[in-house]
Amino acid sequence: VPARIGDYTDFYTSVYHATNIGRQFRPDNPLLPNFKWIPIGYHGRASSIRVSGQTFPRPLGQTMAPGASEPAFGPCKRLDYELELGVFMGSGNTLGEPIPITQAEASVFGLCLLNDWSARDIQAWEYQPLGPFLSKNFATTISPWIVTLEALAPYRVPFTRPEGDPQPLAYLESPANRAQGAIDVQLEVLLQTQAMREAGEDAARLTRTSYRHAYWTVAQLVAHHTVNGCNLAPGDLLGTGTLSGPTLEEAGALIELTVGGKQPLALPNGQTRTYLEDGDAVVLRGWCEKAGAARIGFGECAGLVLPARQV
Ligand code: CA
Repeated sequence: VPARIGDYTDFYTSVYHATNIGRQFRPDNPLLPNFKWIPIGYHGRASSIRVSGQTFPRPLGQTMAPGASEPAFGPCKRLDYELELGVFMGSGNTLGEPIPITQAEASVFGLCLLNDWSARDIQAWEYQPLGPFLSKNFATTISPWIVTLEALAPYRVPFTRPEGDPQPLAYLESPANRAQGAIDVQLEVLLQTQAMREAGEDAARLTRTSYRHAYWTVAQLVAHHTVNGCNLAPGDLLGTGTLSGPTLEEAGALIELTVGGKQPLALPNGQTRTYLEDGDAVVLRGWCEKAGAARIGFGECAGLVLPARQV
């Protein structure tokens, strides 16, 4: 990986992802009231972050089937990916001294692609009340190099809020963030099953979206993370959270694309998928492109699911 990652924090910055997921659990009240006020996040696990090309066995864990009276132990049955960007910190802050939003981008080195592999059945049983634990920390894959914020300057776009939404509190607000806080990074997710690989077939694209749809910007994540005095260090990694766009075709995880596993995806070779199967390879790609500016590629963030270890 491009840096020694001391700490890893994962956020939840797509209002579309949060709403799609929330709808599956709370159809009448999909978005929790804090989402539009706070960049929601949790502390992740740095030790299992690896570079593109990572392979890992399907995780084992506890799951509670609907209607069951006690949990079962075994291989995850609902393995998913999450399309995210990673934010590498360049300089940090002293414990107790927040980074104001006006200084936040100066403390960031740059961005990479990030796949936050997720075991949905393990997650559903373990996540209350303290959040994801073993459903997330078995593997996280990132692309092999960092694209600096300076390089991304031509692709900055305004940070906007829909009419009627709450405006950010003052510590999450700045003129520069309003003018160009968001970044138009094109993103896509591809899936290559083992059968496709053996037949020499290309990976199939499942999703195409852009980072510009995120509800909170990089500067807001840094300002929020440190506002209580928490110190970030060089090499620390922040995940943006799953970057789903406004339509279902722009969703950044299978749990959204298949509506909780209820609507299987049809692949070009006739196979279908609800969640990932053994031998599946997931590839994230990202790039910026427009007339009059250099095209910038983020490279590839690929990972492969191996069969579970023997129970
Ligand atoms: Ca995530």
